[in-house]
Amino acid sequence: MHKRLKTIADELGISESLLLAKNLCLYQEATEFEVVYTDNQGRSYLLTPAAAAAWRALSTAAAVDDITLTLVSAFRSIDRQADIIRRKLAAAISIEDILTVLAPPGYSEHHTGRAVDISTPGTAPATLAFEQTAAFTWLNTHAQRFGFYLSFPQDNPYGYQYEPWHWCYHPAPHDLPHYNLS
Ligand SMILES: [Zn+2]
Repeated sequence: MHKRLKTIADELGISESLLLAKNLCLYQEATEFEVVYTDNQGRSYLLTPAAAAAWRALSTAAAVDDITLTLVSAFRSIDRQADIIRRKLAAAISIEDILTVLAPPGYSEHHTGRAVDISTPGTAPATLAFEQTAAFTWLNTHAQRFGFYLSFPQDNPYGYQYEPWHWCYHPAPHDLPHYNLS
């Protein structure tokens, strides 16, 4: 495993057997970004230039159909992912439970700069309620045309909870930049 990731995994108590059991992919961290959105607290949301262009096209097409897609999460660095897990461990949540809702550092699509968590007005972000919205129905019909795929459907093989809000841009299925582990 990548040395920096091994150090982080050891520190967080994420064993190699736990990683192997989850069938996860190790993704490269993005290095080029564009700001796609700045929220009313001044926080900027970053994606790679290609994913940013695809997101703009997707959200514009949705708006034409009277669907508002709100970005609630975009690029999140490997270090930031480790910080979030550290805070949950400090709150006495077990690493096994944490990893049903968060990817181990290095294995999250969010640090590829291509993944987005999407919400729509009137719905709490990152909740199953998103599945009942017109925005989710619209995404299921149209998102693939813009290269966005639902990463974690129900009963996904990675042991994650169902995430109707998490979509990832990859022009061909599974075409994400992996680390070469050989
Ligand atoms: Zn997500």
